[in-house]
Amino acid sequence: MILRGLLASLVGLSLCAQERPLVLRAARLLDVRTGTLSSPGQVWVKDGRIQAGIPPAEAQVLDLGDRTLLPGLIDTHTHLLFRAGLGELGHLKRSHAAQVLDGVVNARKVLEAGFTTVRDVGASADFGDVALRDAIARGDIPGPRMLVGGPSLSITGGHGDLNGFPPHLHSGDEHLVDSPDRARHTVREWRKRGVDLIKLHATGGVLSNHDDPGAPSFSPPEFKAIVEEANRRGMDVCAHAHGDAGIREATLAGVRSIEHGSLLSAATAMEMKARGTFLVPTLYALESILLPGNPYRFPEGSLAKARAILPLRRAGFRVALEAGLPIAYGTDIGVFEHGQVAMDFRYLVSYGMTPLQAIQSATVTAARLLRLEAEIGTLETGRAADIIAVEGDPLKDITTLERVAFVLQGGRVVQRPVR
Ligand SMILES: [Zn+2]
Repeated sequence: MILRGLLASLVGLSLCAQERPLVLRAARLLDVRTGTLSSPGQVWVKDGRIQAGIPPAEAQVLDLGDRTLLPGLIDTHTHLLFRAGLGELGHLKRSHAAQVLDGVVNARKVLEAGFTTVRDVGASADFGDVALRDAIARGDIPGPRMLVGGPSLSITGGHGDLNGFPPHLHSGDEHLVDSPDRARHTVREWRKRGVDLIKLHATGGVLSNHDDPGAPSFSPPEFKAIVEEANRRGMDVCAHAHGDAGIREATLAGVRSIEHGSLLSAATAMEMKARGTFLVPTLYALESILLPGNPYRFPEGSLAKARAILPLRRAGFRVALEAGLPIAYGTDIGVFEHGQVAMDFRYLVSYGMTPLQAIQSATVTAARLLRLEAEIGTLETGRAADIIAVEGDPLKDITTLERVAFVLQGGRVVQRPVR
């Protein structure tokens, strides 16, 4: 049995990284690069890092029993400041402060579910994602290590604008970009406010009730200006894109990853492959829009778009797999409930990945997308001591990742099983 939310009671057990070395033992340890299971599994940590060789005699030993050790998971497409199920008008009623408070709650849920790093792409609030990232990094509140993008860049009338409402209701225009000059200014402004990356909307969306997910957005010179300026400031760009033309234009402009990528064609997949562009598929988000009874209260326009896209995206994902694209785990949580951050594993497998490929998408591949492969994503010596344990063997039952039993973050116990 797993009891969640034990953080406060664990203070006594929490192994402060600078104190005693810690040895983790379990029935198995998964090498996520090769798929090799060592049995029994053992890894030891000190000063927040995974260590080589034999642990010292004074080390504290934690035996996790019939479980499998693997690296902390990475979600490369989150919205920690969103709250699922508010409906279209409910979102309009929320203050920036309310969004940040939800972010605090959601950050903890995601960490306790075994996700020790996230890339948060598209907070609508007043750069609340930057504040949340910094509070977690300081150790003020529990949460995953975050990379953040601030508000997503959009064209006027695009996925990031507020469409279908009277003119006096608008989204604010700071993030709306309608020329290359404006693009450069906005990227510089976002950098000034502390973001790690830039997110743009290369096509319309599904949840935005009044635009076309198939239609590309920015002109090629605008795409190019955003990516060039971001790269000059040391930032990558990720592109929300459903339709193939938008995926292609964003890829040619040099974005690091395509988010969703629903209607990807084989020809565009080849362009992505040639450039090393990652795909972040967010499979369960689209499925969650069409759950029986519409528990998240999506408007009819979004339901209709999801119904149209869902049958096509399985083919798009196949194309990506067959092209051998790097596919990184991403959920779009916020569209659905944050505690369900591990739901995409079962969909990645049902859409054609092996369980090992699905686990790699959330570890080694995601770490590479974030350019953090020297820091996280494996249990190799010198990496951050971000380690989880799941019941049984995740290569045999991928859904065991939905019930993470133990979480260590930077050498500190976040969550442990109850015996
Ligand atoms: Zn998203």
